Amino acid sequence: YLSLSMRRLYFDHAASTPVGPRVLRAMRPYFSREFGNPGSLHSFGQKAIAAVDAARENIGKLIGAKHFREVIFTSGATEANNLALRGAVEFYKKNHLTGEGADTSARPRIIISAIEHESVFETAKILEQQGAEVIKLPVNKEGVIDIVALKDALNEHTVVISVMHVNNETGTIQPLREIKFMIDAFRKESRRPEYPLFHTDAAQSFAYLYCDVELLGVDMMTLSGHKMYGPKGVGALYVRQRVPLVGQVSGGGQEFGLRSGTENVPSIVGFAKAAQLAAAERGKTATRITALRDELWRRIKSIAPAAEINGPAGDAKAPHILNIYFPGHAAQDLLTRFDRAGLAASSGSACRSRAVESSYVIEALGYDKARAASSIRFSLGKGTTKRHIVTAVRIIERALAK
Ligand code: PMP
Repeated sequence: YLSLSMRRLYFDHAASTPVGPRVLRAMRPYFSREFGNPGSLHSFGQKAIAAVDAARENIGKLIGAKHFREVIFTSGATEANNLALRGAVEFYKKNHLTGEGADTSARPRIIISAIEHESVFETAKILEQQGAEVIKLPVNKEGVIDIVALKDALNEHTVVISVMHVNNETGTIQPLREIKFMIDAFRKESRRPEYPLFHTDAAQSFAYLYCDVELLGVDMMTLSGHKMYGPKGVGALYVRQRVPLVGQVSGGGQEFGLRSGTENVPSIVGFAKAAQLAAAERGKTATRITALRDELWRRIKSIAPAAEINGPAGDAKAPHILNIYFPGHAAQDLLTRFDRAGLAASSGSACRSRAVESSYVIEALGYDKARAASSIRFSLGKGTTKRHIVTAVRIIERALAK
């Protein structure tokens, strides 16, 4: 990240972060010298499986897992979210809604927030087409879910509740512990006390917030390597022991039967190293980045007094995300001007921005399409400095003047 020059100002860390040098060093041997298949019994395979197991153990410890088998490596947060939702619903349908004495007219219910990432949102939509019932919890202006609406949405066929830890567009932090208490109370009265399962997508939070599965009270938690200075294409789903899931990729039975395919050894090693560094540095990083983010906002507000923040304005948000509404300016035009001047930002989720669709997240906060189409997300990271902020604001000022 030190190589980012003044001409390339990167304010899109929520989309991806660069792989750090220590991570790269940890990964390197596993591309060539230690290239064995972790499933092989010979010494090459043993080296590879030992590396994967160590990575699993380390990530498990960092998130407070009780057993290393609770960490399932995937190709990223998208796949982890798919496994959590599809895996839970498929198990429920097979075991509780079919067979003798089953209520075959019942529909499995999924509860999500209205501002989940596409990988949860679209997956829920597909499950809905396949017969599930999907309840989307409304959020307030800050993006926080309505806990009372959650209570009302619970029923005896609620299979999984998926509420993200930190929103990728606004930085909103969801009250996961409060949700957990509500679920606990519901489970006490339930015929199937293992349900509803509680899943969170922690892709955006791990680098900044303490993500302990006991503290958060979740049964499943999604992580992504490239949001914490690790490689792309690797992530994990934490799955608490005895959480009933059906694997979604079949084959050789790797990852305890939940995700077949030869393990991506170098990326898994890099992911674990990145997670270790992120957890060790997160307090310091969060404090520094919060101050820079506030400075960015102060400076933007002074050159563009009409600008407003989307989402939480105070400190009750993730440090790295600042989403700003620039009235009267099309986000796409601004982003093009920014890019020409060397400033990289985004109009929201990178998974959607190529489609030039405005943000459903901003709309879910209660704003209209026009505001969503005039809003830009700046996301800071370890490489961001005060000088980057000053230069970025100069570029923003010029782009707004055009
Ligand atoms: N969830 C959230 C909250 C995200 O921000 C992202 C990345 N845009 C993802 C999931 C998808 O992560 P991955 O790229 O690892 O599939």
